Amino acid sequence: MMMDMRAPAPMQGGKHGGKRILVAGGAGFIGSHLCARLLREGHEVICLDSLRTGSLRNIAALSNHPGFTLVRHDVIVPYEARDIDQIYNLACPASPVHYQIDPVHTLRSCVEGAIRLLDLAQRTGARILQASTSEVYGDPHVHPQREDYWGNVNPVGPRSCYDEGKRCAETLFLDYGRQNGLSIKIARIFNTYGPHMAVGDGRVVSNLIVQALGGQPLTLYGDGRQTRAFCYVDDLVEGLVRLMNSPAPVTGPVNLGNPQEISMLTLARHVLREVGKDEAPPIQFRELPVDDPTQRCPDIALARSTLGWQPRIDLETGLRRTVAYFRQLGLERIDAPVQ
Ligand code: NAD
Ligand code: UDP
Repeated sequence: MMMDMRAPAPMQGGKHGGKRILVAGGAGFIGSHLCARLLREGHEVICLDSLRTGSLRNIAALSNHPGFTLVRHDVIVPYEARDIDQIYNLACPASPVHYQIDPVHTLRSCVEGAIRLLDLAQRTGARILQASTSEVYGDPHVHPQREDYWGNVNPVGPRSCYDEGKRCAETLFLDYGRQNGLSIKIARIFNTYGPHMAVGDGRVVSNLIVQALGGQPLTLYGDGRQTRAFCYVDDLVEGLVRLMNSPAPVTGPVNLGNPQEISMLTLARHVLREVGKDEAPPIQFRELPVDDPTQRCPDIALARSTLGWQPRIDLETGLRRTVAYFRQLGLERIDAPVQ
């Protein structure tokens, strides 16, 4: 792996006619899987990441690949590069715990980061994809959520830095498309899980697995009856790649998620079964965070019809792989603190 503060020079023609692709946020949970996938397809990948929530461990397996370069860089600062064919913008903390630590920087990452990368796309002629979120629907009154629902977002609450930042980024993407003729794509990603989630990430799947492996009480916020629908990371990456390479008129926003909706109580039961503890750790109920959505589930009809995409990996299989990942980190030996 090259680690450079400057833009690397382009390789001489990627294998298999590969493209030169910039992945902002490529050292994060989803980004690291996306980088691996793009390298496997013969593309050259520039991973632009501040390492704020991502980690070198996530991209360690890519480090010797000649087509992979890590550039440590914050997307709120302009970045110069040549000959970029595609840009995926995933650079933003995604866990509520993390994006609320420095809400101003979260908002700046969403808004200024989008502007910097859109400007880069304009200078290079690259196509650009935004990793948006189901959080743009807020605490939804329409269920399941379709792309034409405008959402129910609190603009002044503790989640607003993320929700409104992502909403503004969507507007910027569409306006750069309409006004400046950029080729843009917007994916609205619903809850995604899998290997490379950080141990201290704070999101529910990693929290419950880490707690169950460590024999700690499982933390459920509120009464645990709120719902989410969890998509395994490989399915999500497949959706992102399909959207990026879809015909130009398909801009999105397009929902990408798994429509299998479950309560957090049911998720806890699934996790305990996959971890296979003889004696189930107790459940510790905690206060529900402010503005925590009560229900969430994607309508993926648009992704099915325009991208021919739907998730393939069921929750049981995905959780088994995710538990195996956390197990090999040796969590049963360390008393990992999880909030
Ligand atoms: P993550 O926190 O693991 O990854 C985000 C990556 O972006 C990290 O590597 C981090 O260091 C980097 N980053 C953050 N701010 C940056 C900045 N200002 N400049 C450069 N790099 C920066 O999160 P993730 O789960 O992999 O999410 C990736 C993207 O997908 C995010 O944009 C997130 O909003 C979106 N998303 C994720 C989910 C999910 O369930 N995982 C759901 C909806 C949307
Ligand atoms: N949650 C929980 N226990 C945890 C972490 C989260 O019950 O240890 C809940 C959280 O309140 C929310 C749901 O699980 O209702 C999903 O939370 P997560 O942070 O994973 O994603 P969100 O959908 O809120 O962005």
